[in-house]
Amino acid sequence: MDRKTFIKSIAVIGASPAFAASVPAKGADGKNKTKSESFGGGFVPSARIFKTGRAKLTIRPPEKYAGKLSSLSVSILYGDAAWDGKSDSFPWAKDFPAKYREENGAFAIDADFKKECRYTFVVKDKKRGGNESFVASVPVYALGEDIYALRPFKGDSHIHSTNSDGKNSPEEVALRCYEVGLDYQAISDHSVYSTSEDMKRKFSRFPTSMSFFNAEECHYSHAHIQNFGGSQSLTEYVKKNRGEFDALVAEIEKTLPADASAVVRRNVAVAEAEFDFIRRLGGIAVFNHPFWEAEPKKGKYTHMESRMLDLIAGRKKFDAYELVNSTCADIALARALCHYPRHCAGKPVIGCTDAHSVDSQGTGYTIVFAKSCDFPDIKDAVLGGKSLAVDAYSSHGSKLQRLAFGDERLVRFSYFLFDEYFPLHDELVAREGKLIKGALESGSKDYSEIAKAARAVEGLYESMLG
Ligand SMILES: [Zn+2]
Ligand SMILES: [Zn+2]
Repeated sequence: MDRKTFIKSIAVIGASPAFAASVPAKGADGKNKTKSESFGGGFVPSARIFKTGRAKLTIRPPEKYAGKLSSLSVSILYGDAAWDGKSDSFPWAKDFPAKYREENGAFAIDADFKKECRYTFVVKDKKRGGNESFVASVPVYALGEDIYALRPFKGDSHIHSTNSDGKNSPEEVALRCYEVGLDYQAISDHSVYSTSEDMKRKFSRFPTSMSFFNAEECHYSHAHIQNFGGSQSLTEYVKKNRGEFDALVAEIEKTLPADASAVVRRNVAVAEAEFDFIRRLGGIAVFNHPFWEAEPKKGKYTHMESRMLDLIAGRKKFDAYELVNSTCADIALARALCHYPRHCAGKPVIGCTDAHSVDSQGTGYTIVFAKSCDFPDIKDAVLGGKSLAVDAYSSHGSKLQRLAFGDERLVRFSYFLFDEYFPLHDELVAREGKLIKGALESGSKDYSEIAKAARAVEGLYESMLG
């Protein structure tokens, strides 16, 4: 089966038995249901993504309504929140009749998605009242052409392994990235670049959907600086080019305010020289966890020293700002949010876990809206502001918290993806990871199931495009 045919056979329509079991369908309670619970002759309500403007949709009724379409009605709600199946609990959305006609036993709908937002098509039984009338809903998002042309990729580029101070082996960390549903990963040990290279090499034998990028957390300055995707180790590169690096630091120091202390000037200059060298290596220079400690350590400057932070952030020489670092205390995110608009507005954001144990992986990540999950496209997208920093820390009560920060249009769309796309996406990625783990353990050379699982991940979003 070629890729296109395969993609058509999976996911939202649920035609392929291998994957249909986890297709999300909105049932009467508005919750995602598995195929076995809700597919038996029901509507196939499945999320769809369209371009803004005019579009045609077809909604096919369940068997029991065959020939009785006139007893049903279709209306459209629009608004950012997901509909829970009870129209009276959805007062913020506008509800208006949809233009539709019956065509070959289905509703043919001419929609005009004027605004970029979520729309919910609701099918009701006209003979019933209140919540009883609900038959099915189809969640839709209409996107402007620029974002419609991109794909969402979820990744963590700041994770540690036993090659520095992490608790788990690089392989355990890499496999955990599958379990938590990422599209790309970059293990970034302290001053160690080779972990990311080793994992890229190790997993390259598999036909996987996961992109492996290089990374390293750099420590020449008190500020921790991320070499995300650079073509080699910054730590090694600086060692080899020490003279040039020191000359650059001296040049930068001259541009810093004279009233700043020598320690502050030195550290800001070193951090900025690191940004510069990371860019030379083709990487994205990220200012890591700007607020990782609430207060400077007694008698010792950290990059939390406010003047140092103000200068690094205010001069904006980095490429991206690690707004979410889910290992840091809540106050770090709160302070980063206070600080960001003042100094950094307009600079791209990154979200990461900075996990030192597999238990913390998945609690923070970046969503990058890019042409593909290859590094050059991810880099272009991040530098172009097409990224969101997400805090998905799960210990906030029973509900998974998902706080997305970044461009407002992307933020609004991400909440649709959290409801309608990522749950299934994450499950498919985890399934692929399980197969890869099995192959690593057994040494099997038959990767055909892995290839199939990887294509399911890659094809899922495509299958939602209207
Ligand atoms: Zn750090
Ligand atoms: Zn770190």
